[in-house]
Amino acid sequence: MDEYLWPARNVAEYAYCPRLFYLMEVEGVYLPNEETEAGKAVHKRVDRPSSDTEDEVRPKSVRSLTLTSGRLKLTATLDLAEIDGNHAIPVEYRKGRPKKTVMAPPPDDPGESDEPPLASTEPWPTDRVQIGLQVILLEEAGYAVPEAFLYYAAEKLKLAVPVDEALKKDALATLEAAQVCARGSRPLPLVNDRRCEGCSLQPLCLPDEVNYERAGDPGSMPSPRKLWPPRSDGIHLVAQQKGTRIGVRGTSVRITDDRGSVVKEIPLVNMESLSVLGSVQISTQALQVFADREIPVAYLSPAGRLVALVEPATSTSGHIRRAQFKALDAETVKLELARALITAKILNQRKLLQRNHAALPDGALDNLTREAEAAARAESTDSLRGHEGRAAAIYFGLFSGMIRPEAGREFQANGRQRRPPPDPVNCALSLAYSMLTHEATAALRTASLETSIGAFHVSRPGRPALSLDLMEPFRPLIADSCVIAGFNRGEFRDGHFARTAAGCMFTDHGRRAFFNTYGRRMDDEVTHPEFGYRLSYRRMIVLHARMIAAWFMGEVPRLSFLTTR
Ligand code: SF4
Repeated sequence: MDEYLWPARNVAEYAYCPRLFYLMEVEGVYLPNEETEAGKAVHKRVDRPSSDTEDEVRPKSVRSLTLTSGRLKLTATLDLAEIDGNHAIPVEYRKGRPKKTVMAPPPDDPGESDEPPLASTEPWPTDRVQIGLQVILLEEAGYAVPEAFLYYAAEKLKLAVPVDEALKKDALATLEAAQVCARGSRPLPLVNDRRCEGCSLQPLCLPDEVNYERAGDPGSMPSPRKLWPPRSDGIHLVAQQKGTRIGVRGTSVRITDDRGSVVKEIPLVNMESLSVLGSVQISTQALQVFADREIPVAYLSPAGRLVALVEPATSTSGHIRRAQFKALDAETVKLELARALITAKILNQRKLLQRNHAALPDGALDNLTREAEAAARAESTDSLRGHEGRAAAIYFGLFSGMIRPEAGREFQANGRQRRPPPDPVNCALSLAYSMLTHEATAALRTASLETSIGAFHVSRPGRPALSLDLMEPFRPLIADSCVIAGFNRGEFRDGHFARTAAGCMFTDHGRRAFFNTYGRRMDDEVTHPEFGYRLSYRRMIVLHARMIAAWFMGEVPRLSFLTTR
């Protein structure tokens, strides 16, 4: 028997948007933003459980009172309940302001009065449902509930909510509708609705993007609103110095060197991700804080290979993974995804050569165009591999022509070689691809996708096949561009590489130079060809991962990947 109890707080979100409720309650999604963090701070102040030593005679203020109803399969933790004998008054805290509705002027008002228009103050529908459910739970626990309050911290306003049949009826109807909704598939997003602008799940839900792709004629839809900031101003920290220790002190990340001296303190609110290479230590406390704040932590080998990714246990959704497995079981679906990825990659390789090659031989661009067109029509994965391989041969055969001659000469002789990389260009390409694999893996995990099962790349033990798929269109745009820029601008120099029997490797100094160049490239902004807005490459990868998830879920009928003009 399903003993699951529905949290009243999540059920109330159904009144705001059924899809928001579904994402939070069924898929377990949570994306902190400034609003949610401020809301948490308000609740933290009132959520301290009450002590037992309060006066037995006067009304008792009980904080964090948890009530459940097996009959309704409902639970709620009340911010505050003022209890006097068998009477209880719930008080729910909100960080923001109540809903204000401007009242129409009386018919005889010429509209030229200096008085501000009258506004009625009322609870938001979500708040009303939540307090209604709390009233029902208190009554079921044997209390009489004469009144209920919502406290809006931004206005220091304690707003009375009439406890009547309408309040309870609306709350129960929402509970019932939410329970029905949870048994079905994910509701579609709201269409061009202002509620999305204040919704913390907007970057994951992608309402305008999904609606745009769903429209039979996307031209008939307004371009998606730019609700997502183009890039995060947060810090993507890479720690690689041997003996470095990372811990948390108060609200900051503290980094110390091998002698124990503090080399950097970073406010936790500014941290976006952490990657550690080699012998760097992270405290258990820091790992827990990072998980709480949804800051992904990647452990990489010195060559940049992803060894482990620490992420919060809440970040997976069985629904999305089931949809992914089902979709990728069908050869036609796999081929459709693989074709879109490889076509975009070949077009981006072509564009990079066109922009950067000093003296392209006749026909090279046309040959790449032909391979891209053939890839888009390929009728089997094997045939697609053939087109991808031929395009790669053309592209890497000309790659050294995009790099200063003294740096590109060795690569020209060696060609692209991975294990071990024999020269600096191959070495830089390998590290750039490893970092990109890790970015794609992190993006796919935040989209609740399983990285070991892909479309173009075959699953093998330890191989993140879907990450390798997702990074295909981004290889030329991010990894290859970063390597070309690093050598051409003199950021990667001879002294940055060590040659050993195991191949050519970055020195510590060289790796630092690499991460500077790579970090800048990830922050560069690029325009999405269909949605028309600009995003950093880092956010663009995340957007693509989430659109792939939407496609697996059947929300969008087609997929397109980033190509630059
Ligand atoms: S972004 Fe809009 S459609 Fe999506 S969950 Fe939020 S309110 Fe609902």
